[in-house]
Amino acid sequence: QKVAPFATEPFTDFSLPENKQAMEAALAKVKNELGKSYPLHIGSDKIETGDKIVSINPGNVDQTIGTVSKASKELAEQAMQTAVGAFETWKRVPARERAEFLFEAAKRMRERKHEFSAWMVYEAGKNYAEADADTAEAIDFMEYYAREMIRLSETSIHQPLVKLEGEDNRLTYIPLGVGVVIPPWNFPLAICVGMTTAAIVSGNTVVLKPASTTPVIAHKFVELMEEVGLPAGVLNFIPGSGAEVGDYLTMHPKTRFISFTGSKEVGLHINRLAAQTSEGQIWIKRLVAEMGGKDGIVVDETADLDAAAAAIVASAFGFQGQKCSAGSRAIIVESVYDKVVDKVAALASKLTVGLPELNYPIGPVVDKTSYERILGYIEIGKTEGRLLVGGGAAEGNGYYIQPTVFADVDGKARIMQEEIFGPVLAIAKAKDWKHAIEMFNDTEFGLTGAFFSAVEERIEEALETVHCGNLYINRKCTGALVGVHPFGGFNMSGTDSKAGGHDYLLLFTQAKLTSRKL
Ligand code: GLU
Repeated sequence: QKVAPFATEPFTDFSLPENKQAMEAALAKVKNELGKSYPLHIGSDKIETGDKIVSINPGNVDQTIGTVSKASKELAEQAMQTAVGAFETWKRVPARERAEFLFEAAKRMRERKHEFSAWMVYEAGKNYAEADADTAEAIDFMEYYAREMIRLSETSIHQPLVKLEGEDNRLTYIPLGVGVVIPPWNFPLAICVGMTTAAIVSGNTVVLKPASTTPVIAHKFVELMEEVGLPAGVLNFIPGSGAEVGDYLTMHPKTRFISFTGSKEVGLHINRLAAQTSEGQIWIKRLVAEMGGKDGIVVDETADLDAAAAAIVASAFGFQGQKCSAGSRAIIVESVYDKVVDKVAALASKLTVGLPELNYPIGPVVDKTSYERILGYIEIGKTEGRLLVGGGAAEGNGYYIQPTVFADVDGKARIMQEEIFGPVLAIAKAKDWKHAIEMFNDTEFGLTGAFFSAVEERIEEALETVHCGNLYINRKCTGALVGVHPFGGFNMSGTDSKAGGHDYLLLFTQAKLTSRKL
């Protein structure tokens, strides 16, 4: 049976009253379900533990989203053994059948789209559009990777190997084994679903350690996979502390690969642990790590300055700047510098801050640690640049921070070099467009970037010399779409895994060549 070609899930237009009402109804429904307890999933067992993670609404810190059981090392070990056992049967399930679980889950998630989004409004502090894009991307990942696995399983049989008379040669992509999946909290559904389902559809089994700030939405996904009949043990759910459970699983001899998205510090730590071989380990662990960014937008004097300013503001402040793709730097050529700075300041100062449930453009940052770190960077910014907009905490019963813009920042300043992961934009002046590109490239990161210009030769040059995994021309640097903009970065941004692209599933498989004498 032929599968329809992949198409991205459309975003919901919340300016239409019926869509807004549907979202409000979902929010009301989810509100009634707040405060429940969620167990670990190990095989078909649901395990409640004494030790809990209490997930709260970062925009209203007195509201508990849910209480999630926390795994110990012993339970992590049990999950690992269960995943090892399940791999023996799951790896032999035909690719097409594995893909069907993803198609069915995508279908059901689409039917309950606003409900999934509503959980993220409460648990992650996303506004409607950000939450809706997150759910849409989760659906896209499942639809896309399911098709990818089918393609891989079919093309491998017909892989165009060079023909040799008297032999039948084939290349097939077989799974690796048990993967430890450690997703981030900032796309608590999309990236969790993408990382997990890519591994599963490729024939691996998974131990999933969700982000500790967003475990409830991760559990909603695990429930969905159970609902569609994914065999027990293929996906095991083990919330817990990174230092305890994360490290234990990373170092486990039966862990075949680790798929991680998160900060540079944690990514490098996992890389170090994964490089050590444990007693009984018979492979080199594979690490897929997507880490931070210090992404930026370059504007030359020929650019559409209004479009550039709007893109700078959208890239810097979407979801409070808590994206590894966030455009936290803007580098503008001297001759239009003041104009662009004024436009950016005007747009940024219009952004209102408030409760995600009420769909304010800017909501809270995710937790107290982030809040304090970001406010710390704002103080550093006051010594490194000219404060134009914001500059501190905002009102509300949560972790609210004003969208903040600093101008006249030196390229080497800390707020130009270090990932802040919050609503803070640093603007720097360049002599000309070539100098601006040099300044853009002066970073240890290399995830996303944007170049604004109307001159073809400059764009050609930028396409070649701007060094980042996802380079956009005359548009914002956030919002990569599955299948359209495969996503991943260079240097300290990670292993450039290109999620949502043709190369992604190869990271979770190994190619086996069989040659048969005829
Ligand atoms: N893929 C997202 C984007 O293009 C960013 C992912 C992330 O922040 O981890 O905006």
